[in-house]
Amino acid sequence: MKIKIITPIWTGDIDLKSDWLHSTGIIGSLRWWTEAILRGMRKFACDPAGDERCPKKIKDEMQYCPACLIFGATGIRRLFRLEISGGEKIFDGGAINIKPQQRNRGWYLGSGLKGEIDLNIIPLDRDFDENLVLVPLAIAAKWGGIGAKTQHGYGVVELIDKIELRFENFQGALDKILKSERLRKLNIKERNDTNDALPNIKEMFFAKVQFEVQNNDWWKEVDGIKPVSNDQRLEKWIETGSVPISPAIKNWLRYDDGKNLWQDMDTNKKERKENWLFGTTDRVCSSCYEKVNQDRNNRRNFWCSNCRKSLKKEETFERVASKINVSCAYRINNTTWEFRIWGWIPEGFQGFNRNNFLNNLKQALDGNGTRTIPWTSLLGKFTKNHKLKVWREFNPPNESVINNYLQSLLEDKGGS
Ligand SMILES: [Zn+2]
Ligand SMILES: [Zn+2]
Repeated sequence: MKIKIITPIWTGDIDLKSDWLHSTGIIGSLRWWTEAILRGMRKFACDPAGDERCPKKIKDEMQYCPACLIFGATGIRRLFRLEISGGEKIFDGGAINIKPQQRNRGWYLGSGLKGEIDLNIIPLDRDFDENLVLVPLAIAAKWGGIGAKTQHGYGVVELIDKIELRFENFQGALDKILKSERLRKLNIKERNDTNDALPNIKEMFFAKVQFEVQNNDWWKEVDGIKPVSNDQRLEKWIETGSVPISPAIKNWLRYDDGKNLWQDMDTNKKERKENWLFGTTDRVCSSCYEKVNQDRNNRRNFWCSNCRKSLKKEETFERVASKINVSCAYRINNTTWEFRIWGWIPEGFQGFNRNNFLNNLKQALDGNGTRTIPWTSLLGKFTKNHKLKVWREFNPPNESVINNYLQSLLEDKGGS
């Protein structure tokens, strides 16, 4: 499988020469997409980094979720091996700091991989079917990204080998590895559990926005890029045909007038909602997302000033990933560029109105709401005609069957 890198892939800080490292970063994100799809199909998929990860031992029985049956876990091996070759580092040296106006810290952009990569999927089990990997990969390629740091704009790719994928083949491949005779032989059981608060494709949204540019240097006017536009590292990044606009867009959405899209009236809870939605590197309370500090009365615990409670380490999150990803802009043709904004927004966080937020965001991107996006101050004065090209989210009752929705994501011709 040949893959064209559209916006640089992030595979890790360490030596980019190691193919093994490439594959762990990519396998991690393939697993993430597979889990989101499985949960959408009402299958259980554990969080492989969490305390509740597989196997779950009940009496003498070892239980594994379908994601672990595909990707492996303690006690069972992965059904396939991924060999990755190709790709080139964009620049040497440290990360570039992109700092939108009025920000103290900004975002750090490290070199990723550019070019083309070859992805070779090697079965390690006779019940393995390539569709288990190809279908999630194709959905990620079409709507999101692969590798790490997709929230900073990395990882938009295009599958070069045009194979027609069908969601029913993923379903069939899954049925095959979950067959009871097979599991009995392995002396394990399928794990059925509850999936609270973990990424689910039914709760994701996908948008593509296009705009026109008036010259090839338009990117020098992007908020945050101007001060570093002469940096050679950045020039090398631009040569890949992508522009890191994610800091500009996220800065507006998180700190500037874009706040109005998610903040509602209840500004008291702003900080907590912000941590929940955009992520944080601070340690926070796992129920309210307030930042926690060491508990003075019990030094092994953390104190949540909002819940007024002493929390064990397991009751906190060490860091929170952003629920919103904004890709780099990438070229569609000589004058048209596109970027993606996508993510997982679950229902049920206190005081957060999911529906309002998604409606507000969609209308703002489309330019037909009461809240408008100051495109030219974000993307620069040489961009124009910004418009929402496509918006997708699971939308029952129109799309009552998740399989149909997933099939449509595999086929959809919207945007690039
Ligand atoms: Zn599992
Ligand atoms: Zn709390």
